[in-house]
Amino acid sequence: MALTFAHLMTEPDFPLHPETIAVHAGRAIDPATGAVAEPIHLSTTFQRAEDGSFPTGFDYARSDNPNRAALEKALVLVEGGEVAAAFASGLAAAATVFQALAPNDHVVAPREAYHGVLRLLRDVFARRQLAVDFVDMTDVDAIRKAVRADTKVVWAETPSNPTLKLTDLAAAAEIAHNAGARLVVDNTWCPMIQRPFALGADLVMHSTTKYFGGHSDVMGGALIARQDDEFFRRIRELQIVAGAVPAPFDCWLVHRGMQTLPWRMRAHCDNAARVAQFLATHPKVERVHYPGLLSHPQHALAQRQMSLFGGMLSFELRGDRAAAMSLPNRMQIFTRATSLGGVESLIEHRQSIEGPETLTPATLLRLSIGLEHGDDLIADLDRALAS
Ligand code: PLP
Repeated sequence: MALTFAHLMTEPDFPLHPETIAVHAGRAIDPATGAVAEPIHLSTTFQRAEDGSFPTGFDYARSDNPNRAALEKALVLVEGGEVAAAFASGLAAAATVFQALAPNDHVVAPREAYHGVLRLLRDVFARRQLAVDFVDMTDVDAIRKAVRADTKVVWAETPSNPTLKLTDLAAAAEIAHNAGARLVVDNTWCPMIQRPFALGADLVMHSTTKYFGGHSDVMGGALIARQDDEFFRRIRELQIVAGAVPAPFDCWLVHRGMQTLPWRMRAHCDNAARVAQFLATHPKVERVHYPGLLSHPQHALAQRQMSLFGGMLSFELRGDRAAAMSLPNRMQIFTRATSLGGVESLIEHRQSIEGPETLTPATLLRLSIGLEHGDDLIADLDRALAS
């Protein structure tokens, strides 16, 4: 896809770095006003020409909208692939992948992943129309054994939620392709720092609610496809006919957030690495889950498939569930809240929000590391752990 520079309306004739692409992707000077920032088009309907056609390409806002079209173009330029579809939430994007499968198709899914995706598979799709096996995605042999002749999707989330287990994406892609299936990667935790298409993925999913939006003020989801093939066309059809589409302002906010995504990711990762090091030596901490630590059992894999190690981590406290439940209440900078990827740091006791099927240890706390100064985040944890 071409990257036109807003003020030039042409494609630059030299290679660009991701930071430059993120600032300009999907943007153009508004021809009507000269506005540099993208205008928001709230109109739900668009005028037809005398012959009944739509010369601008837009007819009705559920089918398409200028802000969604701009966001989808930017998603391709930033993540790679050929084509993208934007959704109203990450789960709407995930659900559309499963809806696009045929009845009784088989899905290989992670035993550990974001609990909402697991719930969607277990309580909705496995009950009615799909066969699903949940496997340990850290174990390449387990993935190999789980695929069958009717497997159509291998789903990976790496690092996984909430104990940051890794899936070897290149190996998973090979296994999926040998079985005639697609590798779908939920890359929500790793925009810019993990390139699933380069490792063989066929479809990349994001909850753009997280790092793409980046400010905890918009819900969104995205599917980006390696190829504009028949499967993607089915996804596009479902996006339009099922209607889980994002509002124009939501598209605008995600698109705006993307402009600073490469720089924010660097700072999130830098802060998280420092916090992980601090926690790893703290006497009240039993274990830290962060792929950047030498002690992470898959650190070598993390070095191979991630350029930085992410802004998310979790740790297990020494002590009991009550100790883990109370620690967030003593934090002064971290907010006790769910979600991730915003500028502000968050802390959460995962087990208590994941529901009865949770496998998460009772003493585990998950951190989304924000863009405050790293020293202040460490001081906040240090004080809360001391009291
Ligand atoms: N995937 C991952 C890895 C997530 O962390 C989340 C939300 O926390 C989702 C998907 C779901 O996204 P949304 O809340 O935008 O539906």
